[in-house]
Amino acid sequence: MIITKQKPFQDILESLKGINKVFLVGCGECSTTCKTGGVEELKAAKLELEKNNKTVVGSCIPSAPCVAAQIKTELAKNIKVLHEADAVLVFACGLGVQSVKENERSGKIILPALDTLFGGTVDAKGNFCEKCSMCGDCLLDLTAGICPVTLCPKGLLNGPCGGMDKGKCEVDKERDCAWVLIYKEMEKKKNLAGFRKILPPKDFKKTTKPHKLMLGA
Ligand code: SF4
Ligand code: SF4
Repeated sequence: MIITKQKPFQDILESLKGINKVFLVGCGECSTTCKTGGVEELKAAKLELEKNNKTVVGSCIPSAPCVAAQIKTELAKNIKVLHEADAVLVFACGLGVQSVKENERSGKIILPALDTLFGGTVDAKGNFCEKCSMCGDCLLDLTAGICPVTLCPKGLLNGPCGGMDKGKCEVDKERDCAWVLIYKEMEKKKNLAGFRKILPPKDFKKTTKPHKLMLGA
């Protein structure tokens, strides 16, 4: 999922300078899980905006505003109030914001209320952890299911580097070295031969942006 955090409210107000009527868009998936764009967060934002003399003309929370069909349906349902709005404030990741911009036909000002941080998992304690950098060429089969591209700050494919100290990473002493984790996992799986295999340099052409996967008609 995409991890987000709300922008400081002062920054949101700054982006709304000169704008009075606002329509809010949330996200029923990732931002709801991150508690940045669900029902409660939109309610709180409405109160705060009203305290600051803004008028919230309406709101919607599509399950995934990054999906054109979903945001289009929600915007269509709210077309009357949407017409009254000067701007749309989006409580979703950057994908959601851009999807709203592409699918809102009356040319409203579209503004982000959140900062998009990373693609992550949610652990058992509810912490968000970055695990994949979407490199386009997954090598988890060669690294015991642990991603060095993401977990090693240097993205080393053949570690550990000389800075590893007692299993900890030289960039952040609080964190385990990704390559020590990979070694331990391979040892557990009795596959240390896999650890000795030198991984070739990554083909960074696969990370050239922007990506597009043409599956639509
Ligand atoms: S190697 Fe790492 S960054 Fe690349 S796709 Fe796999 S998990 Fe994601
Ligand atoms: S100590 Fe390990 S995780 Fe940290 S930069 Fe070196 S190889 Fe990467």
